[in-house]
Amino acid sequence: MSEQRERTFVMVKPDAFQRGLVGEIIGRFEDRGLKLVGAKVTRLSQKQAEDHYGEHEDKPFFDDLVEFITSGPVVPMVWEGEDATRQVRQMIGATDPAEAAPGTIRGDYAVDLGRNVVHAADHEDEGANEREIALFFDDDELVEYDFHESTWLYD
Ligand code: UDP
Repeated sequence: MSEQRERTFVMVKPDAFQRGLVGEIIGRFEDRGLKLVGAKVTRLSQKQAEDHYGEHEDKPFFDDLVEFITSGPVVPMVWEGEDATRQVRQMIGATDPAEAAPGTIRGDYAVDLGRNVVHAADHEDEGANEREIALFFDDDELVEYDFHESTWLYD
């Protein structure tokens, strides 16, 4: 069975990359039954970072955020699954790790708002996935394939 479910944008931030948490974070989404359709190791340019976080341009933390996100390698990814955007947001937890529930990625691996290990598209912002995926991936970098787990994951 081949199905095209919702695609959502996720990125391992530079702090998690340096702390060796890339595999842990990818494993969380694999274990949940999400399907990885795109991933790369890259370092954001100033322009990419400013575009990605454009909505926060006027906030006092904007410059620090751009400096941090451009400070080292990141792993942008696209995950696919039913209701994937909402599921992933639940799995990463609250923006401030101090508020993030244990069992969420931020709740398990982070302590500081400015070093919260992972980004995921906002499920309340309808255009977020399309916009963020387009910033990091060309269409031909996203792979369509049959996911052998799917018949055991979906009714
Ligand atoms: N951030 C920060 N200080 C703040 C609010 C946010 O450093 O007071 C950072 C934090 O790393 C967060 C990012 O800015 O992940 C983007 O904020 P947003 O509200 O979009 O949260 P997210 O979607 O990442 O949960």
